[in-house]
Amino acid sequence: MQKINELIIASNNKHKIIEIKAILGEFFQNIYSLQDKNINVKIEETGTTFEENAIIKAQYIANLTGIPALSDDSGLEVKALGGAPGVYSARYAGEPSDSNKNNEKLLKELKNVSDRTANFTSVIAICFPNGETITAKGQTFGSILTAPQGNNGFGYDPLFFSNDLNKCFGIATSEEKNAVSHRGRALQNLKNILTVNK
Ligand code: IMP
Repeated sequence: MQKINELIIASNNKHKIIEIKAILGEFFQNIYSLQDKNINVKIEETGTTFEENAIIKAQYIANLTGIPALSDDSGLEVKALGGAPGVYSARYAGEPSDSNKNNEKLLKELKNVSDRTANFTSVIAICFPNGETITAKGQTFGSILTAPQGNNGFGYDPLFFSNDLNKCFGIATSEEKNAVSHRGRALQNLKNILTVNK
């Protein structure tokens, strides 16, 4: 595998950028956001899996800049809904993406449903300008509450009761959530892959 000095995170989500820099900082001399490089693009997530979408976004930015790019694609999967909202998590209640509306729709879909088992999944891809790709996956398990709890985090966090923390992500601190989150776990898996290939 190529040694990586530079990396661009193909995301505008501040939460993700901070978390990724904190965990992967030791592997790269420079980690840039899209903003650092004045890149303002909307990449269509046309894939049907988290992995496809992560690769689409990272490869696009790697090709555009000539610098290795990292992208994460993530979402919520609810057992009783056959894995929905899945890759459509951000736009579950339509576009533009609105977390409150998504959460309302989720509660409606799960009205009177007793098995509320759910998980978050994250797939992270690093793509190189030459087409080489590394991917890593992480998951975290829990259930969907019947009403929101707390305002911490983002997206579906106020409705997700974490089995690991035994509390809702909406009331967990960011340190608590990062320690067990799907993205945290995918990043740790990626870190292991990078360490082996160092
Ligand atoms: P994307 O990976 O940026 O496409 O995000 C997908 C969507 O999944 C987000 O907009 C959220 O609705 C949801 N999501 C992903 N990760 C989390 C999380 O850690 N907490 C809450 N919602 C999340």
